[in-house]
Amino acid sequence: MKQGYTVWFTGLSGAGKTTLNYAVGARLTQKGIPFESLDGDEVRTNLCWDLGFTRTDRNENIRRIGYVAGLLSKHGVIALVSAISPYRTARELIRRASKTSFIEVFVNAPLAVCEQRDVKGLYAKVRRGELSAFTGICDPYEPPENPEIECCTDRETIDESVDKIMQYLERQL
Ligand code: ADP
Repeated sequence: MKQGYTVWFTGLSGAGKTTLNYAVGARLTQKGIPFESLDGDEVRTNLCWDLGFTRTDRNENIRRIGYVAGLLSKHGVIALVSAISPYRTARELIRRASKTSFIEVFVNAPLAVCEQRDVKGLYAKVRRGELSAFTGICDPYEPPENPEIECCTDRETIDESVDKIMQYLERQL
């Protein structure tokens, strides 16, 4: 059986994690490579519906997603995870627990760019004082120190970012 991988997209809200997750998934579909997408927003409505945005809850969210990703990748499936995952230690715990390869993708865009995109209207809500504990503004984001891949989504097109990730994956497969 082929080895599975966990591809972990981390970054600010609006940096491009979900976009890249599904775009990489589309490429894997074309190639007939088995994968599953675990997106933070979706996971929070089912697997992690009971969790909030304290440091403890955010880390528990990551722990649960990491556990599921580990189960998938153990069976040769590529788990594509997109979640802000703001705390370095939580991400490192998943990396260490990974029985298969853990590929951290730092989806990097400046806060100002993410705020300007404001895909979900969340930054506007924060600025109106309707949301608190928002990553990058009033809650910390600890960037990866040694990510396997970095995508600067303010300077790369979606296709360029996806190509970079696919090239990395194809070298491993
Ligand atoms: P996140 O999941 O990190 O909150 P989204 O994927 O929902 O972010 O939104 C990112 C936005 O940035 C989308 O509107 C997407 O089209 C845009 N974008 C521009 N360039 C890129 C890129 N290189 N990679 C990913 N997204 C990009």
